[in-house]
Order: sequence, then structure tokens, then C-alpha cells
Amino acid sequence: NGHAPLFAEARGDINVSFEFFPPRTDAMAETLWRSIETLAPLKPRFVSVTYGAGGSTRERTHATVERIVRETDLTPAAHLTCVGATRDEIDEIACNYWEAGVRHIVALRGDMPEPGQAYSPHPGGYANAAELVAGLKAVAPFEISVAAYPEGHPDSDSAESDLDNLLRKIDAGADRAITQFFFSADCFLRYRDTLAERRPGIEIVPGILPVSNVATTRRFAGQCGAAIPQWLDRLFEGLDELPAARQLVAATLAGELCGQLYAGGVRHFHFYTLNRAELAYAICHLLGVRA
Ligand code: FAD
Repeated sequence: NGHAPLFAEARGDINVSFEFFPPRTDAMAETLWRSIETLAPLKPRFVSVTYGAGGSTRERTHATVERIVRETDLTPAAHLTCVGATRDEIDEIACNYWEAGVRHIVALRGDMPEPGQAYSPHPGGYANAAELVAGLKAVAPFEISVAAYPEGHPDSDSAESDLDNLLRKIDAGADRAITQFFFSADCFLRYRDTLAERRPGIEIVPGILPVSNVATTRRFAGQCGAAIPQWLDRLFEGLDELPAARQLVAATLAGELCGQLYAGGVRHFHFYTLNRAELAYAICHLLGVRA
């Protein structure tokens, strides 16, 4: 029964990691640091900090990662995109991270600054994430995570060519893939099994987005090719004015997805926290991950 593991006692066999974004204001920074303090006792394997669209948060990402290094025992992973930058610029950022003690990079291509604009590489830059991975490995022996898309990336012609792209990133030196969010455990598990046939032993970690606001999620999903099932809309119908009820539904839903993944053998979960601790904390608790 897929539900049993959810409510089992702490099992000690689950790893988690948390993703944050760099705050824009002092108030947002305070929320982020409260969330980090709340989640830190769960001993995540790493915490990652995103890089704004088109590299727009270069300084803020760096500052957030450095503060994690300085003020916590957590292992940071810095997201880095190659869109709109030369190889030299990227290599310098990577070098600075290495010197600051950062050993893990989430290496991404990124998207063009204008929504919907077709991707075109910088003439002096890395053309895609696979090239970026190879470039980073040449700078220093970073641990590298890359993005994976169980439902395919919008730029890919087919599931097969999308998988080939992931294989190129792995062959360039990536240690692990973290997926875009999804709502079907079967879809992830099939994707994982296909990958395992092609590259046995490579780690693939599901990215879990606890959804408490369908409209916001739809906006993210439009940009990244994740499908929002119709039942998700129905599930949140009538809850617009009931934020606490929405949170409970969100935790239940994500908890159930994680339970199904656990039953399918998944032992590492990556949470898109949106800088809020409560949902990720509650779901970890259900999974038996305790302080
Ligand atoms: P790539 O792997 O380079 O490629 C994306 C797609 O383009 C491929 O699936 C493939 O279909 C096609 N493609 C690439 N190369 C080729 C080729 N040679 N031939 C044919 N087709 C090709 N964005 C940010 O801006 N900042 C972040 O911090 C950030 N963090 C993310 C974290 C995770 C876990 C995920 C899943 C995504 C994240 N993104 C982030 C979004 C990401 O930048 C976008 O999805 C972007 O459109 C693709 O990046 P990628 O690294 O997957 O690109």
C-alpha cells in the first residue's frame, strides 16, 4: 500500500534537499532566514539557491550562498545559468564560488530574458547546459546537478531527444539530475527507469512543488512544460479565501505524491520551498524526516 510509508516512524532512510530563491527585499530576506532556520534541523543533504532569469540575480545569489556558508552548517548548491554570458564570465563566477568554499553547482542553460523568446546562445558563451557542465568541471572538480524533465522540455522535439540531452549532460560530468516539478508519480518513476537503463547508477531526484496556489503554479508550469492536471484545479475550487485550508490540501497532496514515490523506491526528495518552510517541513515530517 503506497500510503503506509507516509505515516511510518522516522526511518532514517530518506534524504531531502531544499531550494530557495535569493530575496529581493529585507522583508523577504527575513522570511528566507526564518525558513532556513526552521528547515536546517532536518539536516538536508544540500540547500540550493536559484539564479534569476537571464542571470539577473548574480550578486544576490552569490550573497545568499555565501551567507549560508558563513552562518550555517548546511551544504550549499549554487544555481548557475549560462544564458547571456560569456564563458569567461561564467568561469569567473565559478572560480569565486570555489574559492568561497562552494563545491556544488546546479548547472542550467536558463531562458531568454523576454518570456517566450526562443533561446539563442551568447556568441562567446556556453551553448547549453551540457557545455556548461564540461566548462565547470574544467574550472574545478565541482559536484554538479542538472535539470531533468519527466514530461519533456518545451524546446525538445521528442521525449527521446530530451533524454539524449540529459545523457549529454551526464556524460559531460553531471553527478545528479533534479527534475522539474510534476504531479504524476508514475510519470517520474517511468522516466527514472528509462534513465537507469541508459545510465545505470546515475542519481535522479524528484523536484517536489507543494502547490497551495494553482494560479501561480500554472504560471510556472507554462514556462517550463510541466502539465497541470485538471483535477488540481478542481481540488482547489472554492478555497480562494481559505488560505489555511489550501495549505492543508497542499500538504496532503504533496505528501501523497511523496508517499507514492517512496513506495516506488525514491529515497531523496528535493523541495521547491519558495522560501517558505511550513509545507516542506510538514511533508518531511510525514515522510519520517525529523529534527
Ligand atoms: P539544457 O539541458 O541545455 O536544454 C534544454 C532543452 O533544450 C533540452 O531539453 C533540449 O530539448 C534542448 N537542447 C539543448 N541542447 C540541445 C542540442 N544540442 N540539440 C537539441 N536540443 C537541445 N532557470 C533559471 O534561470 N535559474 C535557475 O536557478 C533555475 N533552476 C532550475 C532548477 C531545476 C531543478 C530545473 C528543473 C530548472 C531550473 N531552471 C532555472 C529552468 C531552466 O533554466 C530552464 O528550464 C531552461 O529552459 C533549460 O535549462 P536546462 O539546463 O534544462 O537546458
